[in-house]
Amino acid sequence: SAASSSDDVVLVTGGSGLVGSALRYLIETQSTGSPFGRRNNERWVFLSSDECDLRDIDATRGLMRKYGPKRVIHLAARVGGLFANMSSQHTFLRDNCLMNDSVLQASHELGVEKVVSCLSTCVFPDKVTYPLTEDKIHLGPPHPSNFGYSHAKRLIDVQNHAYHDQFDKMFTSVIPTNVFGPGDNYDLEAAHVIPGLIHKCYLAKKNNTPFTVSGSGKPLRQFIYSRDLAKLFMWVLREYDEIDPVILSVGEEDEVSIREVADAIVQAMEFTGPVKYDTSKADGQYRKPASNAKLVRLMNKTGYATFRFTPFEQALQESVQWFLDNHDKGAR
Ligand code: NDP
Repeated sequence: SAASSSDDVVLVTGGSGLVGSALRYLIETQSTGSPFGRRNNERWVFLSSDECDLRDIDATRGLMRKYGPKRVIHLAARVGGLFANMSSQHTFLRDNCLMNDSVLQASHELGVEKVVSCLSTCVFPDKVTYPLTEDKIHLGPPHPSNFGYSHAKRLIDVQNHAYHDQFDKMFTSVIPTNVFGPGDNYDLEAAHVIPGLIHKCYLAKKNNTPFTVSGSGKPLRQFIYSRDLAKLFMWVLREYDEIDPVILSVGEEDEVSIREVADAIVQAMEFTGPVKYDTSKADGQYRKPASNAKLVRLMNKTGYATFRFTPFEQALQESVQWFLDNHDKGAR
């Protein structure tokens, strides 16, 4: 339907990224008015850095004036792998601080009613008792490997409380666990574990070499499918009314080992060669479980009790298929 000035605009920063593109997919595929679909009077705008560098607050103000959003989902961030973070702590700190400040302050000045920003589980203290829960964010310093990024992300929660305290704003945040899905970054240098392993398995199949997984395969992680995460963002946008963040994750009982990830990739890729575990490579922490109890409790309370996460194998199959369909077309 044609947009009109009476439409409620939802502006999504970082709309071209992994999570943003999953939200766009949801908006394009769910029927209007369904629980996770667009509402009739909503107009969704997905931004990339091409349209506006959000580190520039004046450009961000101009953008907000242009679209007049009622609500903002703020996903844009400078994200990177371990090496990039370790070698550029200041860039990760500053770029993210600038982006977050521009988006929140311009939203405040232009009367945006609700902003949902995105933290990450790396905001939690390095030394912490597990499982991670929403009340533990500020209990100690984050892991030193990406302290720049982590502190910038933590500060969003502080900013949200300050905007609420002084101006009564409804600015909140969410904490997703490890995200994967179509449109992920499959670059071998920068990729997270799932897209990295998908790419490696693809190359092993193509070159008739063993599929080598770094480490023992034993560590456990909680992975969330980007298209499930998009649905949870929809729920947060419509139903969540606390300033404090909420963890968006599968349950602790749904942790998956790296070996299970590799096995599922082998299945999806129909790889028949040998799989090897390179135990000379570090495993990282064995587990770092996060609790989704708050999410489940509040979803049940607000009438979303029927929500189910996509089975891991199916989500992985869809991600592998996306990679196969897009890899040779110069996907990022
Ligand atoms: P991506 O790296 O896939 O996407 C980042 C997005 O931010 C892109 O749309 C990018 O635009 C945009 N962006 C980056 N710099 C700027 C800038 N200076 N101005 C405007 N836009 C900019 O990230 P994800 O989708 O993976 O992550 C989304 C959010 O979720 C982030 O806040 C991230 O911290 C958080 N998160 C991600 C997790 C994960 O496992 N992926 C886990 C937990 C949290 P362009 O495409 O034009 O470069």
